[in-house]
Amino acid sequence: MIELRQVSKTFPNGTVGLKDINLNIQTGEFVVIVGLSGAGKSTLLRSINRLSDVTSGDIQIDGQSITSASGSKLRSIRRNIGMIFQSFNLIKRTTVLNNVLSGRVGYHSTLRTLFGSFPKRDVEIALTALERVNIREKAYIRADQLSGGQQQRVSIARALAQEATIILADEPVASLDPLTTRQVMDDLQRINRELNITTIVNLHFIDLARDYATRIIGLRAGEVVFDGSVHEATDEK
Ligand code: ADP
Ligand code: ADP
Repeated sequence: MIELRQVSKTFPNGTVGLKDINLNIQTGEFVVIVGLSGAGKSTLLRSINRLSDVTSGDIQIDGQSITSASGSKLRSIRRNIGMIFQSFNLIKRTTVLNNVLSGRVGYHSTLRTLFGSFPKRDVEIALTALERVNIREKAYIRADQLSGGQQQRVSIARALAQEATIILADEPVASLDPLTTRQVMDDLQRINRELNITTIVNLHFIDLARDYATRIIGLRAGEVVFDGSVHEATDEK
């Protein structure tokens, strides 16, 4: 479970990113966060795995405070959280397989990732992850030779190889065409259902949110202005 208690974030220049956010997200939920550009979606996701520090309040992941953790404790909490970005964030000049193996944070050094020397068990875990998103046949191709949709599936596989129990996806389909968008969202949904991975996805299209979310959270100017089922979100319109 992910719990946010009175979470606020003000940037050093005075811009309010988040304002008094209180949320409980249960294991296995598929939450879509919607809101206009600048609403605070990215700040919210980045706060959950502490890519960004909050100004006040507390965030707990399975009962452990990530806001006050440091060192090995912070690393161990983060190990449960897979991050997916709009721009994929793959290591371009190495293979798909090495990228997926790099998801096993803390298991391997960057050098190992670059030279591709990994224990056999890890390679098997990575190949299984690629199979789950249907691109195992691309394992030995350089990451930058794949299409955008394929690259995004590699980043999903990377989160799976990490054995993440939570996936945070920050505008994962913003740079993809409509068909590829559906494929990537389908993958995220399937993984959420098959592996019970708690999934939080930032989107700026409400239509897409309705098709995939079990719960929609609306943000405006850093505040939660809607939190409910897809059904309720549809009724509001
Ligand atoms: P969204 O993801 O919904 O587009 P963001 O979380 O990126 O929104 O941004 C929320 C608000 O915080 C916006 O007003 C944005 O300009 C501001 N913001 C984001 N990062 C910074 C930063 N590093 N410094 C100052 N303001 C920021
Ligand atoms: P992301 O979507 O990954 O949060 P952004 O594109 O919003 O990144 O921002 C890129 C960089 O600019 C980040 O370092 C962010 O913190 C910073 N930034 C975003 N909005 C503002 C802002 N209004 N003022 C100052 N810095 C900002």
